[in-house]
Amino acid sequence: MNGFRKFMMGRYGGDQFGMFLVILSIILCVIFLFIPVPYISLLSWVPLVFAIYRMFSRQIGKRQEENYAWLRKWGAVRTWWWNLKNRAKDSKTHRCYKCPGCGKKLRVPRGKGKISITCPQCGNKFIKKT
Ligand SMILES: [Zn+2]
Repeated sequence: MNGFRKFMMGRYGGDQFGMFLVILSIILCVIFLFIPVPYISLLSWVPLVFAIYRMFSRQIGKRQEENYAWLRKWGAVRTWWWNLKNRAKDSKTHRCYKCPGCGKKLRVPRGKGKISITCPQCGNKFIKKT
C-alpha cells in the first residue's frame, strides 16, 4: 500500500468528472450490447481510458480545470432538466403568460376564469382567461 501511495503522490486522483466518465463507460457498454456492430463495444472503453489517464495525470491544474468546466455544464443540464420537470408538473395547476409589455413570463393559477394580471416588472395590466 505504501508503494501505491508513493506512486499516487503528485498525481491527480479521482473527481466528479472522472466518476462521470466511468459511469458513462458502463452505460455505453450496456447500450453497445444491443448494437450488432463488431468492435463497437471498444468505444465504451474510451471514456474509461480517459478517466484512468486523468487519475494518474500529474497536470493537476489542467485536470481541475476540466472538472470545473464539466461541473458547470452538468449543473446547467441539471437545472434545465429540473425546470422541464417542474414545468410539466406545474402545467396542471398553473399557466404561463407572456407580459405583452415587457415579455416577462408570468405564472398564474389555472381555473380562475377571467382574471386581470399585473406584471410585477413593468406594471402592465392585461386580462386573460385561465
Ligand atoms: Zn411586463
